Amino acid sequence: MKSHFCIKRYLFPMFMVIGLTCSCGRNIETYLQTKAEPVKTDFFAMDTHMQFTAYGDKAEEALKAAEEVVAQLESKWSVTKEDSEIYQVNHSNGQEVALSDETAEIAVFALEMASKTEGALEPTIYPVLTAWGFTTDENRIPEAAELEELLAHVGYDRVEPSGNQIQLPAGMELDLGAVGKGYAGDQVIELLKEEGISSALLDLGGNIQAIGRKPDGSDWKLGIRSPFGEGTIGILSIADCAVVTSGNYERYFVGDDGKEYGHIIDPSTGYPVENDLASVTIIAKEGKLADALSTSMIVKGLEGAEAYWRENPDFEMLAVTNQGDIYLTEGIEDLFSLSGTFGNMKMHIIREVR
Ligand code: AMP
Ligand code: MG
Repeated sequence: MKSHFCIKRYLFPMFMVIGLTCSCGRNIETYLQTKAEPVKTDFFAMDTHMQFTAYGDKAEEALKAAEEVVAQLESKWSVTKEDSEIYQVNHSNGQEVALSDETAEIAVFALEMASKTEGALEPTIYPVLTAWGFTTDENRIPEAAELEELLAHVGYDRVEPSGNQIQLPAGMELDLGAVGKGYAGDQVIELLKEEGISSALLDLGGNIQAIGRKPDGSDWKLGIRSPFGEGTIGILSIADCAVVTSGNYERYFVGDDGKEYGHIIDPSTGYPVENDLASVTIIAKEGKLADALSTSMIVKGLEGAEAYWRENPDFEMLAVTNQGDIYLTEGIEDLFSLSGTFGNMKMHIIREVR
C-alpha cells in the first residue's frame, strides 16, 4: 500500500540559505558584518538531521559535548532499542519502571501538556501510528474497526508517574516523539550556556533554538517554508527562544485512494489530522513547550489553537491555513515579514481581545 512517502523540513536559519543562494541583499550585508567565525557540527540523531552553530573560543569543545547529550537522550528514549528506558516502560506488562531524571521530567511534561491540551497531544498514540505504518515507513490505511480497537489502548490519563517511577497499563505504549527534540534542544542550550557560549543557533531537524543573538547583535533570521511546496513564505526575526513548526505536509504518504495521510494523528479519531491548518509554528522560551504546542495546535485547528493561545499567553504562534491565509499572534506582528513571492497571502493578527 505504500506508494509515496515524504519528509520535509519547515524552518531553516536564513544565513545558511543566504550563504548558498545570495538571494537577499540586505541579509547578505548583515551576514558579512558578522566577523566572528561560526563553529558548526552536523550529525544525524533522533531520526533527523541536526546542525548546531556556535560562536566563541569554546564553541568547538562545547558542540562536541552537545552532540553527546543528544546521543545520550536518544538512547534513553528510543521506542525500538531494547535497552532504552522507553522500551522498558513499553514492555513492562503493567509493572512500575524507574526512570532517569531526564526521562521522568520529559515524560511528566508530555503528560501534563496532554492534559492541558485536552488530549490533542497524546503521548500514548504510538499503537495507532504503528497501524498507519509511520513507525516503519510501511504505510497502509487501517480499517476503522482496527483503529477503534487500538484507541482502547490510548489514553494519557491512564499513565501513572510518581517521582521517577512510571506505570503504564499493559498493551499501552509511550512515545516522546512529539516533544523529545524540543527537550533535547533545551538540554543542549543549558550545556552551551554553562560552557560560556552566548551566541548559538541549533537546528534539530527543523526545530530551531537560539542562544542570544548573532555575534553582531542582530536577530537571527529564519525562513518559514511554505507548507504548499517549495519556497519561503516569510522571514521571522528571533533571539533567545525556540521556534518549532509542525504540519502534516512534513511527513505523509499517498494512499491507494489518492489521498494524502499525514503523520500527526487526531487522537479522538485515530485518523491523520484533517482540518483548516496546513502548518503551525510556535515561538516559545523553551523548546519542549514549543514542540508540544506545535503538534497539539495542529490537532486543535485554527479556532481551537486561537482559544488555547488566549488562555495560555506563554507562547506566540504563526499558523498557515489550507486556504493560504496566515494568522499571527500579536506578539510577533512586527517580527514576521512576508516574502515577495508569497505577497498575495492574506495576513491576520490574532489579538488577546477580539
Ligand atoms: P512533531 O513533528 O513534533 O509535530 O511530532 C509529530 C510526531 O509525534 C509524529 O511523527 C508521531 O510520531 C507523533 N504524533 C503524531 N500524532 C501525535 C499526537 N496527536 N500527539 C503526540 N504525538 C503525536
Ligand atoms: Mg512537536
